[in-house]
Amino acid sequence: MIFLDAAATTPVRREALEAMWPYLSGEFGNPSSHHSLGEAAAVALAGARSGVAKVLGCRASEVTFTSGGTEADNLAVKGIALARQLADPSLNRVVISAIEHPAVEESARYLERVHGFAVDVLPVDREGLVSVDGLRAVMRPETALVSIMYANNEIGTVQPIASLASVAREHGVPFHTDAVQAAGWLPLDVKALGVDALSISGHKLGAPKGSGVLFTKGRLGVEPLVHGGGQERARRSGTENVAGAVALSTALGLSHAEQPEQAARVSDLRDQFIDQVLATVPDALLTGHRSQRLPSVASFCFPGTSGESVLLELERLGVVCSSGSACAAGSDAPSPVLVALGIAPETAQTAVRFSFTSTVTDAELNEAAAAVETAVGRVRNLASPQAG
Ligand code: PLP
Repeated sequence: MIFLDAAATTPVRREALEAMWPYLSGEFGNPSSHHSLGEAAAVALAGARSGVAKVLGCRASEVTFTSGGTEADNLAVKGIALARQLADPSLNRVVISAIEHPAVEESARYLERVHGFAVDVLPVDREGLVSVDGLRAVMRPETALVSIMYANNEIGTVQPIASLASVAREHGVPFHTDAVQAAGWLPLDVKALGVDALSISGHKLGAPKGSGVLFTKGRLGVEPLVHGGGQERARRSGTENVAGAVALSTALGLSHAEQPEQAARVSDLRDQFIDQVLATVPDALLTGHRSQRLPSVASFCFPGTSGESVLLELERLGVVCSSGSACAAGSDAPSPVLVALGIAPETAQTAVRFSFTSTVTDAELNEAAAAVETAVGRVRNLASPQAG
């Protein structure tokens, strides 16, 4: 099997498994306990926090461990907007882009539905880019938060985060970015990016599912969503997932160290793969930006097919990929991300996303490109047998 669905999830790296194992076995203490087992767990958690902080270029106290990307996004969008509104009741708007992951979009909609916020949705161009001037135009004195993703999970388009964040900063508004897909592939230094909050998910970069991080800058207020014993500086109560935090920190550190080399290598393979697919299926439509895209994502629409049928054929040929985001899989509705790019709903239904791990090889992608030609041909023949 050739696994080309890494944007959905990745296997746990051996190093992460080995690093977490002690905290699932002998060193099983609760980091809040005042005996030696608890202290060992607390030391491990502190080490994991420093490891993440090193990659992000921030202080350890600015790192909150969460149960994953979804929780990190919820805590950022709801937690920051509500904390700001509590301090200043006139703040009642949030800005998001039209292609956010549901973890951000639905958090903004919750603020609208339950707390009376207005949500300003920034459109994207045909390649999925948000305009910096467009952001400037929607900023209002009542804006509590801007949240724009670093890289999109369906089309791989990478936003100009530093420029967007500087617009928010000019208006004194905190800027959050969902870096779940970017982590491991793009630079994550929060000072260089100029962001006030940033979300990461462990299982996209070689740590287990159910581990995540939210960075929040300095004293930026975050209203907690989970109340209890006050762990994680009261930003996120609940006994910490020590093993998950250790694994995430290990995997993030490794992928960060490997990042410049792997990003360059995989970007070259991605471009070759895109060229091969466009050469063998000439009417294929590459979705997202041609160059400002994640090294790991190649996404297409194959007009005249059904994305789901192409996926089935590809799986028969030994290639596993996805029709878009794992969250939207199984839904008949065309992807809102593709519709936001201006792609017709019937074309959006034909989307297939190939996403790569950092260990993907040239041979695998050559085989996958040949499989794409065969799979698309088979689906088209089934749809119109007389066409041969
Ligand atoms: N944000 C983006 C861009 C994602 O791609 C995902 C997962 O697909 C998430 C957030 C949610 O992360 P998790 O699966 O850790 O909850």
